[in-house]
Amino acid sequence: MEKKTEKEEKICGSAKKCGGCQYQGMPYKAQLKKKQKQEEKLLGKFGKVKPIKGMDNPYYYRNKVHAVFDRDRKGNIISGIYEAKSHRVVPIEECLIEDQKSQEIIRTIRGMLKSFKIKTYDEDTGYGLLRHVLVRRGFSTNEIMVVLVVSSPIFPSKNNFVKALRKVHPEISTVILNINDKKTSMVLGEREIVIYGKGFIRDRLCGCSFRISPKSFYQVNPIQTEVLYKEAVRLAGLTKKERVMDAYCGIGTIGLIAAKHAKEVIGVELNKDAVRDAKINARENKITNISFYQGDAGRFMEGMAAEKEHVDVVFMDPPRAGSDEKFLSSLVALAPEKVVYISCNPETLARDLKYLEKNKYEVKEIQPVEMFCFTEHVETVCLLSRKEK
Ligand code: SAH
Repeated sequence: MEKKTEKEEKICGSAKKCGGCQYQGMPYKAQLKKKQKQEEKLLGKFGKVKPIKGMDNPYYYRNKVHAVFDRDRKGNIISGIYEAKSHRVVPIEECLIEDQKSQEIIRTIRGMLKSFKIKTYDEDTGYGLLRHVLVRRGFSTNEIMVVLVVSSPIFPSKNNFVKALRKVHPEISTVILNINDKKTSMVLGEREIVIYGKGFIRDRLCGCSFRISPKSFYQVNPIQTEVLYKEAVRLAGLTKKERVMDAYCGIGTIGLIAAKHAKEVIGVELNKDAVRDAKINARENKITNISFYQGDAGRFMEGMAAEKEHVDVVFMDPPRAGSDEKFLSSLVALAPEKVVYISCNPETLARDLKYLEKNKYEVKEIQPVEMFCFTEHVETVCLLSRKEK
């Protein structure tokens, strides 16, 4: 439930129990200041940290909403998130950072379970069907994907369930069953059954259209993703002559956006579904100077370095754990003129920058971008250039 304070900041009723928003209750400007300070503390030794690019409206920015389903002690069906470091479910009625339409859909599903006699899954006994619901909305296309994570592929009256759900939310474009029958804290299982629509949604960023599958990574704040990608492409300073790499490329977003400004782009990504999406995205956007490979980015770079391949610019966007020795040493061996490092964790970024500064690179620009309002996470895009030939 939301209320407004004198400072016009909305207050979340679940903040204390949920723990997802560490900066709940803090005015938005103060949050940005805090993030700026944190960035300066961790990255200031590499150069001047530019002022963080914040959001005009810091609410309801998340295009991906995840709810875990359970029952409370009285047996009522609840949906929400896991309490920090536990498997207890905190019921969430309204979240201030998640897409509102997606939250509505989750509430509708919760209300439908009883009449469809669908039991929520019990982690202790392994009994029950529905574990999680994941909703993703393409902000610029308004296409909506609903993923029902279930413990068994047998979903009673699934067609009627979809019909009833779409009657309330006709904007839902696809519904997918994801089968997760393991005792695991991973949300998604391997197997998927599309029960309505095409099994993916599309969204548009920086003039390109992207297909997104349930298991593919896609940035959660699309408004700021455009800000981030524009900065990344600007820092690369492409002139249509360069051979470019997009490492940890996901569904190929950065590489595809950069391809218009480059001679050739090579993308590498571990997740098979994301690579399939990336290849289709290239075709659908009629971009022909790009190719995608599936595999570990470090091993791929090692291979490129062994073959003495020439690369001018490397975009790298690793997960929170940052890059690794194999990737970084091969990067140094490949010796691109420029490296654009996009990071969602300034601590691992600082560690990797230190390695690169010791190995012929210097940091030229550090630009923090707000992607996760009300949480302590900060995204950074950083330009490095090679010191000598
Ligand atoms: N650049 C993309 C994705 C960034 S998220 C975007 O902006 O959307 C990080 C990506 O790295 C994820 O897609 C993840 O699947 C991938 N990944 C994780 N470990 C990897 C590895 N060892 N090698 C290649 N890709 C990896």
